[in-house]
Amino acid sequence: MSKPKAENSSPSTNEGLLDVIIIGGGPAGLSAALILGRCLRRVLVCDSGQPRNAASHALHGYLTRDGTSPAEFLKIGREQLAPYETIAFRHARVQDVERAEGHFAAVLEDGERVSSRMLLLATGLVDELPQIENFRQFYGVSAHNCPFCDGWEHRGQPIAVVGCSKDAAELALELRLWSKDIILCTNGGAVCDREALDLLERNGVDVIKTAIARLEGKGSELERIVFQDGSENARRALFFSPGQHQRSHLAEMLGCEFCEDDGCVQCGEDASTCVPGVFVAGNASRGLQLVIAAAAEGMQAGFKINSALLEADAERGAVKSGAGDEKHPAPIPN
Ligand SMILES: Cc1cc2nc3c(=O)[nH]c(=O)nc-3n(C[C@H](O)[C@H](O)[C@H](O)COP(=O)(O)OP(=O)(O)OC[C@H]3O[C@@H](n4cnc5c(N)ncnc54)[C@H](O)[C@@H]3O)c2cc1C
Repeated sequence: MSKPKAENSSPSTNEGLLDVIIIGGGPAGLSAALILGRCLRRVLVCDSGQPRNAASHALHGYLTRDGTSPAEFLKIGREQLAPYETIAFRHARVQDVERAEGHFAAVLEDGERVSSRMLLLATGLVDELPQIENFRQFYGVSAHNCPFCDGWEHRGQPIAVVGCSKDAAELALELRLWSKDIILCTNGGAVCDREALDLLERNGVDVIKTAIARLEGKGSELERIVFQDGSENARRALFFSPGQHQRSHLAEMLGCEFCEDDGCVQCGEDASTCVPGVFVAGNASRGLQLVIAAAAEGMQAGFKINSALLEADAERGAVKSGAGDEKHPAPIPN
């Protein structure tokens, strides 16, 4: 195995066309880089350092990494990619992408342009947090959005779900698996779904409609919810079902299509989008929003991108080993 490279090294434009630029170095992007790099594809991963789970202290539900901090998880991922001379990593935001004749050009925040035959978008999502005073103080430690990620740590505790959408009502019902003491706080809103309300009542979930004034607790450990009428309710954890939007505008810029219901980038089973040569993986696309699922999607996308590159080269009789200096990239398919 060769020596690890410096983390910020990258193939520059004068080294020619890269095989793949991966935009986003979260679990999806790093996984894709691993499989592509191992296929001797020249890969550049660009990452702006804003992973979706940055507020969390411990990642759960990933076999072998349960309880690891998200930052440590990414550090291990980058360290394991470092020995591959086919993979370069840049801490940089890609601010612009263009489709050119037979390739893509990405413009990094420092103005550098890099080009590749194919693009993988692994740019993730942003969660829209409830507008409650001092919510961020508790976010990631005792205020969460995913019971599969953080329900176990609050099992048996008094839990509040905040929201008045059907999703919030379903989340409250689901959380009964973790605790028998669940309330739904609509924060001044009304749960419009009658059926959902009936289900909550039948399953012992109380609904509190009073608007929330603030959250209180020690450090990031929630102790109580204070309502605008002055009443209080002792709670150890709060869950919510967030609205979400794409972290990056690049998919839109490239002309990708989006799912109407959840705003995810539309793609086929093979991670390909409607734009030839552009693939998507992880939370930016459909599927389970878990780290292990994002990593698996990245791996699948990498596999498919390698096949697409191989197919394009085979058509031209140009399949060559990436070992040594041989490199004869074909244009991306139109
Ligand atoms: C508070 C919280 C806790 C969570 N806890 C868990 C848990 O315990 N277990 C679990 O399985 N899941 C958990 N999740 C879900 C998990 O965070 C996601 O499933 C996972 O991060 C998705 O990986 P990804 O690679 O698709 O996206 P991300 O991890 O969000 O990575 C996307 C990367 O792309 C980068 N990027 C975006 N745009 C650009 C651009 N233009 N140029 C360069 N880089 C760009 C971002 O900076 C980011 O680093 C949690 C989520 C939240 C919000």
